[in-house]
Amino acid sequence: MAILIDIFKYFEDNFGFLLHDEETGATATIDAGDEKVIIAALKRRNWELTDIFITHHHWDHTDGLLPLKEKFNAKVTGSFAEKDKTDGLDVLVKGGDKIMFGTTEFDIIETAGHTLGHISYFEPEGKNLFCGDALFSLGCGRMFEGDAKIMWQGLKRISQLPNETKIYCGHEYSRANAKFARYIDPDNKYLKQRQIEIDEQLANGEFTIPVRLADEKACNPFLRCEDKTIAARVGISSDDPIEVFAALRKAKDVF
Ligand code: ZN
Ligand code: FE
Repeated sequence: MAILIDIFKYFEDNFGFLLHDEETGATATIDAGDEKVIIAALKRRNWELTDIFITHHHWDHTDGLLPLKEKFNAKVTGSFAEKDKTDGLDVLVKGGDKIMFGTTEFDIIETAGHTLGHISYFEPEGKNLFCGDALFSLGCGRMFEGDAKIMWQGLKRISQLPNETKIYCGHEYSRANAKFARYIDPDNKYLKQRQIEIDEQLANGEFTIPVRLADEKACNPFLRCEDKTIAARVGISSDDPIEVFAALRKAKDVF
């Protein structure tokens, strides 16, 4: 049976997600930045929290973890590689692992680079990806801890998921990302369309996610580092996507 997904905003631009398995009543939050907002979201739906899935150790994804765990006695899953950076993890996972949420299976995908142990949660049946701060619509996370090689490998793993995959990322950065993407890739007509769509969505008070992986692959320069157009725009003549990714990430940092 399909899981229900509730999307809400917290802090300035974070996205929160509740997942609900109707068959068993299991309810998970993806990350736990702000317990008050998550509790309010649970109340609106009348759901009881059973699981907490953590993508990475940053405070805006973990500050509410301990209070939520205590209040609901929820089971907390997180990255083995970040076990010393986040208190309260019960189940430690790494890329390639599978976990059960109610009756639904999730694959753990290693998406390091933003942080060294960053993981994403993929539900193959519904084709839903929760990728924290690894990938954003038309952008990707800042490379705080990893290097270009591991970060590119993580993005590559994401781009190999089914094209219909719906991407649920950790922040609403789409408008600013669109601006940079258009600067890098001005002649991309799909990207031009997506920028218009983003402006419309935001004007209507809608979220710009989830976004289909196929659309991201057509528009997001960080997923297109194997494309000669992108390489040329960042002044890289080699066809090594890692070099292109490194230059692109650097260009975004100072944009
Ligand atoms: Zn982060
Ligand atoms: Fe974040």
